[in-house]
Amino acid sequence: MRLSPTLPDYAAARASFNWSDARAQLNGMPAGINISHAALDRHLGTPTANQTAIRFLPREGDPVDISYRELAARANRFANLLATLGLQPGDGVYCLAHRIPDLYAAALGTLKHGGVFTPLFSAFGPEPIRSRVEIGAPVAIVTTERLYRRKLADWIHKMPSVKHVLLIGGVGEAPRGTLDVDDVLRDQSAEYATRAMNPEDPALLHFTSGTTGRPKGAIHVHEAVVAHHITGQYALDLHPGDIYWCTADPGWVTGTSYGIIAPLTNGVTMVVDEEEFDAERWYRILQDQKVAVWYTAPTAIRMLMKLGPELARRYDLSNLRFLASVGEPLNPEAVYWGRATLGLPFHDNWWQTETGGIMIANFASMAIKPGSMGRPVPGIEAGVARRTSAGIELIEEPDETGELVLKTPWPSMFRGYLHEEARYRQCFAGAWYLTGDLARRDAEGYFWFIGRADDVIKSSGHLIGPFEVESVLMEHPAVAEAGVIGIPDEIAGETVKAFVSLKPGHEPGEALRKEILGLARKRLGPAVAPRQVEFRDSLPSTRSGKIMRRLLRAQELGLPEGDTSTLEGARE
Ligand code: ATP
Ligand code: MG
Repeated sequence: MRLSPTLPDYAAARASFNWSDARAQLNGMPAGINISHAALDRHLGTPTANQTAIRFLPREGDPVDISYRELAARANRFANLLATLGLQPGDGVYCLAHRIPDLYAAALGTLKHGGVFTPLFSAFGPEPIRSRVEIGAPVAIVTTERLYRRKLADWIHKMPSVKHVLLIGGVGEAPRGTLDVDDVLRDQSAEYATRAMNPEDPALLHFTSGTTGRPKGAIHVHEAVVAHHITGQYALDLHPGDIYWCTADPGWVTGTSYGIIAPLTNGVTMVVDEEEFDAERWYRILQDQKVAVWYTAPTAIRMLMKLGPELARRYDLSNLRFLASVGEPLNPEAVYWGRATLGLPFHDNWWQTETGGIMIANFASMAIKPGSMGRPVPGIEAGVARRTSAGIELIEEPDETGELVLKTPWPSMFRGYLHEEARYRQCFAGAWYLTGDLARRDAEGYFWFIGRADDVIKSSGHLIGPFEVESVLMEHPAVAEAGVIGIPDEIAGETVKAFVSLKPGHEPGEALRKEILGLARKRLGPAVAPRQVEFRDSLPSTRSGKIMRRLLRAQELGLPEGDTSTLEGARE
């Protein structure tokens, strides 16, 4: 069965939506709210309790199924452990681990106890971890014995805030002050009365991807769960019992909002893969686990495209029902490829660490416009604005480029940048949150991504969005990835330079360069097309899979590289 939406159509959904109905769906606690109550406890008196919550695919060995009941018990043990250690509500708990069940139990247990949870990418080297520990000052950190030895042992005990280092899989040679999690959890009760929190109590501290500079620590509150829950339905088409796979790591916000919280509140079975990207493994997971809803990122889609459709056709992907993508603009080429190769188009959606949840989406129940991010989800008002000396001015006419802005408040909106109050305040003008991304809205209310405000190129009076140029370059059959930047030019102000990596079987060369430049000129016109194309084996990207244009630009112009702590392949 591939037909999906039981969803109302877009206009009807928007017209009938209000946040209090959405909140009521979580049939909340008698008083207060708690993300873990919505994700776990709420299901315990229902048949969902015995359903698989997590299907864990370890690096080696057979899949492991964990039911909602069992996951709740594990989270309870963890919450009891935090209580035993004397952690107070509001205390920070960091977790540095691969995608293993303990990470999920720690997240949900921390929230149950009222702690503030921060997942970190396990691939981070010691320095980015250390700086995040300094900023967030957690009281406890949970990690594995192996990651501890490689990344924390030398310095973590000197951090004044850190009172407890909890090691999964034994302490080995570790010094005093480290606890063997498995050992201490065994003695804890599997019952825990989830703490009723104020909706505005902090729950999660998430660092941004660091694409444009030093990562910021965005604070989210328990109330956010209402937005996670409802956008999981609208934008990802989650239905109870679905088999769902979000490929993002909880170390970036997608892997938490839609890799832990929304799937659980919606009663789905989530696939959790411990491994990193591998095309054949991924296709096998989609096939063998009978994945119905798949949420992934353009970088992964581009890698699958690079390897060609033949590989995909070797697998039975007939259980797929809904495909969604986030993190970067999704080139129209990728949408068509999904349709032709997987039998379904990808639904792009847009949001940020700061927004906490999906804001703009191509819904299940509406026509996709390839290359567009879609329309605002119910409950969210989005606009395009111009900055003025007095604040902002909304642009009402369609197809004008301006900054993408969102009307405040909404439940998953960030409530601050940690220790950066002034920077936080600068993100708002009156009732609007300023996203720092440029977009245009067409006459039908669809939003089109132009680029980050920092990445937009100004050439001979034209405003050039890198995404538009990159999407055209991607149309060339040899091109796997493209990133474009502006370089200073005396006459034009800036001109466009493209960096391109090629699909297997294609070699860089003068003839190919001319062909690519020719295509760009034909499709974009000489004012917008790149003047130069440089071939690269791969393009620098963040660990969350975003092309780092600022790094391409810094390298090109011999400028300082700035913060590269989230660069993929950075030294561990
Ligand atoms: P930093 O804020 O540290 O520079 P970042 O902005 O990449 O890093 P995230 O919050 O992870 O950190 O990413 C949000 C940004 O990703 C958005 O502001 C937007 O620029 C981009 N993005 C996300 N989804 C989409 C999408 N569907 N289309 C276009 N851009 C997207
Ligand atoms: Mg950002």
